[in-house]
Amino acid sequence: MKGAKENMGARLIEPNSGPNIQKEKEMVNKMIEIYCRRKHHRNSLCKECQDLKNYAFMRLSFCRFGENKTACSNCKVHCYKPAYRQKMKKVMRYSGPWMLMYHPIYSVKHLLNR
Ligand SMILES: [Zn+2]
Repeated sequence: MKGAKENMGARLIEPNSGPNIQKEKEMVNKMIEIYCRRKHHRNSLCKECQDLKNYAFMRLSFCRFGENKTACSNCKVHCYKPAYRQKMKKVMRYSGPWMLMYHPIYSVKHLLNR
């Protein structure tokens, strides 16, 4: 029984940094950029969009599925706070079609699949 306690609680969480997560960050970044540029008419991200991006990146970094994650929209763990989820949905719906011009269709399908 001794020692069991030491394994509980203080588990160090390493942020994800694998290629899938990196790629998804790139896509999210691009989508938010497109959205902000066209909707908010900014050259660089406005405060709200910057905030959304930071939040999305953080969620990706600490996604519990790491490299094996599925599309966020497909995931059973709703790790986004509702307010951010609504915003992200809007961004994806708006920027999804634009992404086809930048990325091969399969990666976009992955993001948008339901
Ligand atoms: Zn914006």
